[in-house]
Amino acid sequence: MELCSLTGWQIKELISKKEVSAVAVVEDLFRHIAKTEPSIKAYLTLTQDYALVQAGQIDARIARGEQPGLLAGIPVAIKDNIATDGIRTTCGSKILANFVPPYDAYVIKRIKEEDGIIIGKTNLDEFAMGSSCENSAFGPTANPRDVSRVPGGSSGGSAAAVASDMACMALGSDTGGSIRQPAALCGITGLKPTYGCVSRYGLVAFASSLDQIGPLTKDTRDAALLMNVIAGYDKQDSTSVNRPVPDFTKGLDGEIRGLKIGVPKEYFGQGLNEDIRDAVNQTLSAYEKLGAKLVEVSLPHTNYGIATYYIIAPSEACSNLARYDGIHYGYRATPAYAEASAGRDYTDLINMYSKSRSEGFGHEVKRRIMLGTFALSSGYYEAYYNRALKIRRLIKQDFDAAFNKVDVIMGPTSPIAAFKAGEKLADPLQMYLCDVYTVTANLAGIPGISIPCGLTKEKLPVGLQILGKAFDEATLLKVARAYENVNSKHQAPNSK
Ligand code: GLN
Repeated sequence: MELCSLTGWQIKELISKKEVSAVAVVEDLFRHIAKTEPSIKAYLTLTQDYALVQAGQIDARIARGEQPGLLAGIPVAIKDNIATDGIRTTCGSKILANFVPPYDAYVIKRIKEEDGIIIGKTNLDEFAMGSSCENSAFGPTANPRDVSRVPGGSSGGSAAAVASDMACMALGSDTGGSIRQPAALCGITGLKPTYGCVSRYGLVAFASSLDQIGPLTKDTRDAALLMNVIAGYDKQDSTSVNRPVPDFTKGLDGEIRGLKIGVPKEYFGQGLNEDIRDAVNQTLSAYEKLGAKLVEVSLPHTNYGIATYYIIAPSEACSNLARYDGIHYGYRATPAYAEASAGRDYTDLINMYSKSRSEGFGHEVKRRIMLGTFALSSGYYEAYYNRALKIRRLIKQDFDAAFNKVDVIMGPTSPIAAFKAGEKLADPLQMYLCDVYTVTANLAGIPGISIPCGLTKEKLPVGLQILGKAFDEATLLKVARAYENVNSKHQAPNSK
């Protein structure tokens, strides 16, 4: 038995029953990583020694008869925009290449408290800006299903690590689809929780009103397990909502008879790949067989989602990224040779800022900073940023109206399957269109999950997106699980 191919839940049971040790799990995993990582490049940092020490401590406690935590010995990979005490956190950027946070993000603290084992930090599009994991300053990650293709983004490293069994589960962040879209392209499960459900404390900010941390896992049971650990109120995040957290693993296998599934007509229009449309339609029929009812709904402002998102997200990003000035954090450019040899540091402060930022940020990040600065500048603010906020409200109202009639909404996660590396790099608009079905959930603050629901003719994974009411993750997980239970063949792709 290869331990690394098991789900988190299976590992936890084996370790808790003392059938395997946490150390054996970590050793097996790192053996597999040594073989697989060179062709995938999912990780920016691996923490093998640290993981072995943690595993040894968990084994010792179990040997003493102590009850281990909820994640007893499960290896977890962390997207590299989540702060880890003493472990470098780069955001996939040259500007933070050597940044070692002096504290843990809330979610990391929780994972450690529950005996999860942090095995490394995963690759991402720089500052989580992108849909293919090709915008990382440290090079791209490959899709384990077909290494000539992208794993999706921006949490592409986390998705690829889980899909290739190089991690049992992982954390990602989702601002406009960055958990769900890579989960879809790699054939795994990814959940973006409701805004305010999981603390953002220690998540490097991209667009603060949209960002959420969430799980990428081999199945929905693992997603529920990880949600039990990371969800909940945290006073360090002023947008964290103080409400009771249900046990997401309970009722997971409950009936879905009578469930009303909204099918938005706007999600099946132009631009949707035919194989994806067929797979999603077949999945909807499978839900009908399980006793659910399909109801056509309309989300009329869907078509404005991308335009709205690409005004709001860059506006917030340009403000959030102002802190990378060469003084507070990370990279500072060296002064020009002429200045240095004249015994001067920089011509002036502005020169130092501008040189450090020009050299430290990559193309996509600079593009977003310019877009955001433009949209917020006086004279354009009303026409762009303010108008985008108004449309954001209309998008939210579309969902409110739909959820008056149905329990969940279903459609494709991504209009296309994993594309070839390099295919969309020259055309940012084509890249932005990958997010057409995912950005609206962030704009409205609602939760969404992507689960594998079939393959294209080229044998590439297709993702089904299920959207739910705010704070109704438990229903999303249950509904996702119902399909998974009858379609286990679409589960964890297992590279072997
Ligand atoms: N692909 C989107 C973007 O580039 C979403 C990113 C994300 O969710 N972090 O902004």
